[in-house]
Amino acid sequence: MDFIDGSVVGGGIIGKENRKGLVLDNASIGKELAVHVARLRECRQCPRMHPPVVSGGPVKSRVILVGQAPGDKEPKLGRPFAWTAGKTLFGWFGEAAGLSEEEFRSGIYMAAVCRCFPGKKETGGDRVPSPEEVLKCSVWLKRELEILRPALVIPVGKLAIGQFLPLRKLDQIIGRRFKATRDGYHFDVIPLPHPSGASPWHRMDPGKSLLKRALRLIAGHSAFIRVKGRRVL
Ligand code: SF4
Repeated sequence: MDFIDGSVVGGGIIGKENRKGLVLDNASIGKELAVHVARLRECRQCPRMHPPVVSGGPVKSRVILVGQAPGDKEPKLGRPFAWTAGKTLFGWFGEAAGLSEEEFRSGIYMAAVCRCFPGKKETGGDRVPSPEEVLKCSVWLKRELEILRPALVIPVGKLAIGQFLPLRKLDQIIGRRFKATRDGYHFDVIPLPHPSGASPWHRMDPGKSLLKRALRLIAGHSAFIRVKGRRVL
């Protein structure tokens, strides 16, 4: 990936067509996405990961939220951001955009850098996925970009942000909108900090003000406004 004047340009073939050379219609998107999510749920490629795969389901949307990896509660509850970090995250969107958790879950596709719980570190806290696991799991996101052609991607937390933007300090990237290209697809990226209680960054300035600015940018993005208006694709 290169970073050029506020735009991020990644490698790959630039074009508007999917891998079959066809632009998918609305019904085909639904079918392809359902097949994709069914295959994703069966994935057991990483021996150190703890199944089952956590998926938000086949939600047709031009907005994709990309988390880092589920925690230990999400596999049991069967959906991403199902515990305390989720409470904070959905609270942000409720406050900034008037979107409830259920409206968010049914209107925005929820992806992640890794879709399985990585397990705990010996020293406590969740294990950070290895570069190999991140690479293996990236095929699922690649396919989601291909099917959904998002207009807006919201990466949450440094591991997710690093998949789309060159890694910088949060102060330099939160509260800004970037144009990015990944796997040949172009979209806007508005990053968010991770909502977990582990980091105080978003609770004190400048993080607090930058987070508000980022949420305002998301709430005013045309793709997000379409989700709110229930005109999803
Ligand atoms: S982390 Fe991703 S690639 Fe690895 S087993 Fe889970 S879904 Fe498959």
